[in-house]
Formats: sequence, structure tokens, C-alpha cells
Amino acid sequence: MLLCFDMDNTLVKSNKIHIKAFNKSFLKAGLKKVPAKKLVEHFGKDKALVVKGVYPNLKKEKLIEILYYHNSFVIKETAKHIKLIRGVKKALFKLKKMGFKLALLSNCSHAQMEVILKHAKIDKRLFSILVGADEVKHSKPSPDEIIKAKKQLKAKSCFMIGDSIYDILAGKKAKVKTISVLTGDHTKKMLMQKKPDYIIKSVAKLPQFMKKLKSSS
Ligand SMILES: [Mg+2]
Repeated sequence: MLLCFDMDNTLVKSNKIHIKAFNKSFLKAGLKKVPAKKLVEHFGKDKALVVKGVYPNLKKEKLIEILYYHNSFVIKETAKHIKLIRGVKKALFKLKKMGFKLALLSNCSHAQMEVILKHAKIDKRLFSILVGADEVKHSKPSPDEIIKAKKQLKAKSCFMIGDSIYDILAGKKAKVKTISVLTGDHTKKMLMQKKPDYIIKSVAKLPQFMKKLKSSS
């Protein structure tokens, strides 16, 4: 069985990385900084939609310029602000030992994912595949990243685990089971409205949860 994980706010606390990188990018592009709260409202979406969320009337070239800056600021400067979510690393090892295949799917670029994992000291080899937003046509909430991982790893059954409503939506479109975790910015109420199959507190609780699920099925 394949477990597909979202990265930001599911395995690592990463808001600070992206807030700093977006604001550095806005300044470099001649725009004003945006309050963190305003940016965070759009986190979990495709990065272009985050920028459009706070600057709706940008020209396409400007948008591309900002996304380019954001990517390089994350990679070169801000990834160091990463914080691992408690118990996550141990849980990933346990799940591997239990025989699950793990995949990491993110609306960050593949290069950003690698740098963030490195700073969080998570061995990328724990995952059978990493799929970034730059490796599919449409990132989450589209199902492309899940479909790609499933196909590449020839997985029959699969779960999507993530902190945001976009992870649930992507999972539903890919017709896989969805597990929401409460380590991100979306509240339990917001998540419940999108009807995930399960809600657990954190990825740290996932080994125990999967064990229970297996024995009850
Ligand atoms: Mg997330």
C-alpha cells in the first residue's frame, strides 16, 4: 500500500520559509511586502495562486518573475527556517518498517522539496518518489501528483495524507482514501467540510492509526 504525504505543514512547519521568500520576492519585483496572515490564507494552493491571491491584478510576466524569485529564495536563503513536526521522522521510519511505500507530493518545486528535506534532516530515500509541482501539469487540488506517484510505483491502493483542504480535494479526484492532519492552518471544521475519510492529530499518530485500520479491515 502506498502512503502519499503532503510536505508543508504535514511533515514540516514551513510557513516562515514561504512568507520570507514571498516577501523578499515582492520587494525585488518592486512591490510591497504583504502581512504574513494575508499570505498564509492562500497557503496550500499552487504558488501562482498564492501570489494572485494577494496581488490579483499582476501581469503574467510579473507573476512569472515573482515565482522565479520565490523558488530561488527558498532554495538559497529561507529553507533554513524549517521546523520538523514532532514525532514525524520516527513515524515515517515506523511506517516503512510496517511495509508501506511512501511518496512525497508537494506544491513546492522538486528542488525546493529536496532543500527543505535536507534542512529538516529527513532522508529523502525514505520516499520511493518525490513529486513537485513542476513535474506535473496541474498541482494540488488537481489529482496529477497522486496519479503520477501511483502509476510510477504501480500501487493499487493508496492514501493521501495532508493538512489542507487541497490535499483532500486532490485525493478525492484521484479516488484514493484521504487522511487529514491537524498540524496546518486549516481548522478541523474547514477540513470536515470537505469530508476526508479520516482525521488524525498528526502524522506522528499515523503508524498507530494504520495498525488499527489494518486489524479492523
Ligand atoms: Mg500542506
